[in-house]
Amino acid sequence: MSINVQSCLIIGGGISGLIAGNILQKKGKIVTILDKGRGIGGRLATRRIHDSDQITGVFDYGMQFFTVTDPLFQEWVDQWLLEGVITEWPNQLSEGQTPCYRGKNSNRSLGQYLAENLEIHRQTRAVSLKSHDSGWTVETETGQSFQADSLMLTPPVPQSLSLLETSNLALPSLIKSRLEEVTYYPCLTLLALLEGSSLIAEPGWLTPKDSPVAAIACNQKKGISPQGCAVTIHSTPEFSEAYWDRDQAVIAETLLNAASNWLGSTVLDYQVHRWRYSHPKTVYGEELLVLENPGLLVFAGDAFSDAPANNIHLTLEKAVLSGIKAANYLLH
Ligand SMILES: Cc1cc2nc3c(=O)[nH]c(=O)nc-3n(C[C@H](O)[C@H](O)[C@H](O)COP(=O)(O)OP(=O)(O)OC[C@H]3O[C@@H](n4cnc5c(N)ncnc54)[C@H](O)[C@@H]3O)c2cc1C
Repeated sequence: MSINVQSCLIIGGGISGLIAGNILQKKGKIVTILDKGRGIGGRLATRRIHDSDQITGVFDYGMQFFTVTDPLFQEWVDQWLLEGVITEWPNQLSEGQTPCYRGKNSNRSLGQYLAENLEIHRQTRAVSLKSHDSGWTVETETGQSFQADSLMLTPPVPQSLSLLETSNLALPSLIKSRLEEVTYYPCLTLLALLEGSSLIAEPGWLTPKDSPVAAIACNQKKGISPQGCAVTIHSTPEFSEAYWDRDQAVIAETLLNAASNWLGSTVLDYQVHRWRYSHPKTVYGEELLVLENPGLLVFAGDAFSDAPANNIHLTLEKAVLSGIKAANYLLH
C-alpha cells in the first residue's frame, strides 16, 4: 500500500538528512531541513583557525575519509567524483580497503554541495515535535514552527530520543529499548595550527600504535590547507572517556605530547572539539525504522544499519544507505 507523502520535515542536515532530502525533492516532495549547527554537513565538519599573522589553517575535524562497499553508494560516489566534489586520498589501510575518498576542498564542501538546492534552516534547533491529523509541527528554540505530513529524525539516536521525550511522545517499549541500546564512541579532537610543516609523511594520515592518539591528519599535505599547517589529532575512545571533563589545556598538552614525534614545529594556536557522538559503537540492527503512530515518523543516520560497527571508515556509508532507505520508504 502506498503512503502518499507530499512533504517531509527532516531534523538534521548531516549526510543522511541531505541524501534523503535530495532523493525526496527530486521526486517532487516538499522538503524542509532544520539543523542546529552553523555550518551544514553535521559530522562532515571543517573549521578554520586564523593566527595573529593572518595565517589560516583549514581543518577537517570530524570524518576523515570513507570507503565504499555498496554499489548503491558507489553510484553517488561516482557522481561526486565526476562533479569534482570528492577525491581519492591514497591512504594504506591495513584492512586492504581501497580507495579512500574525502571532500576535495574539505569534507564540509561535500555537505555544502548536497545542500545546494534544498530548503535548509541553519542554527535552528528543533525542541518540540507535535503530531496532528495533517502530519507534524516542529517547534524550534527560537519559536519558529514548521509543518509537513511526514517527519524524519537523523540526529545521533540519544539526541533523537531526548527530543521525543521532551515532546512527550512515547515509543513502543520494545523499539524504545532497542534505541536505548544504540551507543556511540566519544572523540576528543585537537586542532593544532603549526608554525612550519609537520613531519607527517605523505599523504598526510597516520594511526599511531599504543598511544592516546588514534589518528593524525595533516590537512596541508592533504591539500585542503595550503596556507597554514593544520593538524587534526583524534584521540582514542579510551582517552576521550577518561579526559572528557578535563580542562582543554590538559587535553591539548597530553595529545600534543603524544603526537610530538610527528609535529616538528611550534604550535601557534589550538582548539579542542568534544564529539560526544563520534561514530556508533552499537547499531540499531536494521537500516530502517518507521513509526506510523502518532504520525509518520522515519529514523535515519549512521546507527541505522544491520552491519556491525567495526570499521570507522565504513560509517559514512551506513549514514548514506540509511538516508536512501528512509527516503525510498516515504516514496513508496
Ligand atoms: C571525529 C570523527 C571521525 C570520523 N571518522 C570517520 C571516518 O574516517 N570515516 C567514516 O566513514 N566516518 C567517520 N566518522 C563518522 C561520520 O562522520 C558519520 O557517520 C556521518 O557523518 C554521520 O552522518 P549523519 O547524517 O548520520 O549524522 P550527523 O552528521 O551527526 O547529522 C545529524 C545532524 O543533526 C543535527 N541535529 C541534532 N539535533 C538537532 C536538533 N534538535 N535540531 C536540529 N538539528 C539537530 C546536528 O547538528 C547534525 O548536523 C567520523 C566522525 C567523527 C565525529
